[in-house]
Amino acid sequence: MERYKENQLKVYNSLSKKKEDFKPITAGYVGMYVCGPTVYSNAHLGNVRTFMFFDIVYRYLLHLGYKVRYVRNITDAGHLENDAEEGEDKIAKKARLEQIEPMEVVQRYTVDFHNVLKNYNFLPPSIEPTATGHIVEQIEMIKEIIEKGFAYEVNGSVYFDVFEYNKKENYGILSGRKVEDLLHNTRTLDGQSDKKNPQDFALWKKADERHIMRWPSPWSDGFPGWHLECSVMSTKYLGESFDIHGGGMDLKFPHHECEIAQSKTCSGVTPVNYWMHTNMLSLNGQRMAKSTGNFILPNEILSGENDILPKAFSASVVRFFNLQANYRSILDFSGEALEASEKGHSKLMEAVRFLDKIEASKTSTFNVKDWVATCYVAMNDDFNTPILISHLFEAVKVINQIKEQKASLTAEDLLEFKETLNAFVFDILGLMNEKLQDNSGKINGVVELLIKLRKEARENKDWALSDQIRDELIELGIQLKDGKEGTTFSVN
Ligand code: AMP
Ligand code: ZN
Repeated sequence: MERYKENQLKVYNSLSKKKEDFKPITAGYVGMYVCGPTVYSNAHLGNVRTFMFFDIVYRYLLHLGYKVRYVRNITDAGHLENDAEEGEDKIAKKARLEQIEPMEVVQRYTVDFHNVLKNYNFLPPSIEPTATGHIVEQIEMIKEIIEKGFAYEVNGSVYFDVFEYNKKENYGILSGRKVEDLLHNTRTLDGQSDKKNPQDFALWKKADERHIMRWPSPWSDGFPGWHLECSVMSTKYLGESFDIHGGGMDLKFPHHECEIAQSKTCSGVTPVNYWMHTNMLSLNGQRMAKSTGNFILPNEILSGENDILPKAFSASVVRFFNLQANYRSILDFSGEALEASEKGHSKLMEAVRFLDKIEASKTSTFNVKDWVATCYVAMNDDFNTPILISHLFEAVKVINQIKEQKASLTAEDLLEFKETLNAFVFDILGLMNEKLQDNSGKINGVVELLIKLRKEARENKDWALSDQIRDELIELGIQLKDGKEGTTFSVN
């Protein structure tokens, strides 16, 4: 269904700093590129917040009927420590410390990333290209930038000439930074003397003897700069100009600024029409980050094995927690916030489960068409999920009134109400109905029986049996959660 024809989506564009009408380059089609993870460690919940938001963007665009090509890369080479211009490659360093092959590091954390995304109900992107799979294309792009006069070689490394570019273009167009100010803010690190100016950034780095990730090139045996891979892979799969480019706010500068400079130098056209940036997830008031140790892993939340939360929470509750905040606001993670989300989530799910039991009436006491319109208005307003959720709770109120026979819906309204609620809860927000889905309800019954037997075992202080029931259910992907109101379960 081409719903996009009657829904004018507005997107906050970090480039213009305004909400703009979304008009794709080719009517009905959307090209979207999101910077993926650097696979040198487990993705933390902050990373997941960013990827989850773009999962929502993808899901909503699909729901509107767009044909979307969604490209999210895997950075498996070239990303140096502290996002700096000098230093060791993050993956190579991990490989050295653990005495394994860099590609073992890449494999381990790519598998972990996919496992997290599966547990958290992400849709896979259309293409997931890797930096190491596109070395040839990266070398070609560097040659082109050199030919055009915007890069130079020194001692086997190649640098982008920011001042030369800034003579005719605006380096700083996205981040609002001025090249001259950058001069004062840039520290001179060892090795940077190779550059004409400290603002210049590496397109190719010559590898020293210790560096194990290296490829031959016209300039040296070395490796590409981190910013280059995204220009190369976005152009290759989405074209010189495409619709949406996303990532966390911390990537605006230098990463995305450099991407624009590289791509525009080669093609001469504006590479991206809408830049979208997510705000940060914090923990204890500070940005969640691997480097500071201030983070929680998504799978630790599901298992309850962490020092931060009082108990385990389901993936759908964590999704709900994330989506209760606007993606452009900072969101602080805590056990209390998750507990509040869990309550809201279970109210919503209980109501949704009751939908099938509702019978149609002769009259409607609720204006379904108006309510449906408000849900779309919320999402059309730059994917405003917290406002959407508040509208979903209006539907919960109606369902509860129907339960108490204080409200009613005609057959036609009931159908539209059900379809819309299911579409927004499951297809667009990607929440999960954690009661086991089997038509007869037999499996639910069996798990409930095991919960009862485990309770009896605990009353008899038979901890071994109680633990055995819990652990074996976990192996089957069924998680028991003990709470004040008794034990519930969720399915991963
Ligand atoms: P990385 O693997 O470090 O390249 O990060 C992957 C993505 O996660 C990038 O888009 C980052 O901007 C984003 N990111 C990193 N830390 C956070 C955070 N605390 N909150 C939200 N997004 C983050
Ligand atoms: Zn990128």
